[in-house]
Amino acid sequence: MRSPGFVRLLRQVPMLNRQQRSQLLAALRPAIGLDSVCETIEHARPAPLSCPGCGGSRHYRHGASRGLQRYRCRACNRTFNALSGTPLARLRFREKWLDFSKEMLDSRSVRAAAKAVEIHRNTSFHWRHRFLGGVRHLRPVLDPNVLLVTGGHRAYQTFARQARIAHAFVNLRLGERVRGAIHVQNVNAYHQRLRSWLARFHGVASRYLPNYLGWRWALDGERIASPERLLRAAVGIFHT
Ligand SMILES: [Zn+2]
Repeated sequence: MRSPGFVRLLRQVPMLNRQQRSQLLAALRPAIGLDSVCETIEHARPAPLSCPGCGGSRHYRHGASRGLQRYRCRACNRTFNALSGTPLARLRFREKWLDFSKEMLDSRSVRAAAKAVEIHRNTSFHWRHRFLGGVRHLRPVLDPNVLLVTGGHRAYQTFARQARIAHAFVNLRLGERVRGAIHVQNVNAYHQRLRSWLARFHGVASRYLPNYLGWRWALDGERIASPERLLRAAVGIFHT
């Protein structure tokens, strides 16, 4: 919109009644949501270092697409943006991602998140696992010195191996109660908290368990405390 038209529009704002103000805010919300998402993403990845197609590092700015700066590779001519090569690259409704991240930080079910963000529940489920990105994507935000302590269930062993983090378990069958500074009560208390948190999801397929462990890890101690940080974790750590 040209500047004089916009000035006229602004002058009319004080004349709106309450209902019209709400309607105006609702009309602005998707665009503001998209702006916030794009700022968060581009702040995390200010400029892609290399072309995801050929790995070339010479590229130039080539317009914008859905709020994100687009680049064109000088070597292979391919266009890309800050999301290319990340788990969120081809997801739709970008303007809703921060709202969805907030639902995840609140541990909402698939249906509850879908309703709050106004997306289909299948989309909600798909986004959940894309945002969590699986163990291989969460690993870069894990402290390399982290120690996972469990009761030794096979799923935790797999998780620790895939995440390449240290894993210790107390062998209850042998009557073990303490391993170093770790007491079985602490393990049990954590396990209990995890179980009661998982209960809200009404059954978690074991192949997704690593994602849920990663999710719980992010929530514990508010390691990831804001929707922006969750979105950055899903995007910003995956430099190609
Ligand atoms: Zn290229």
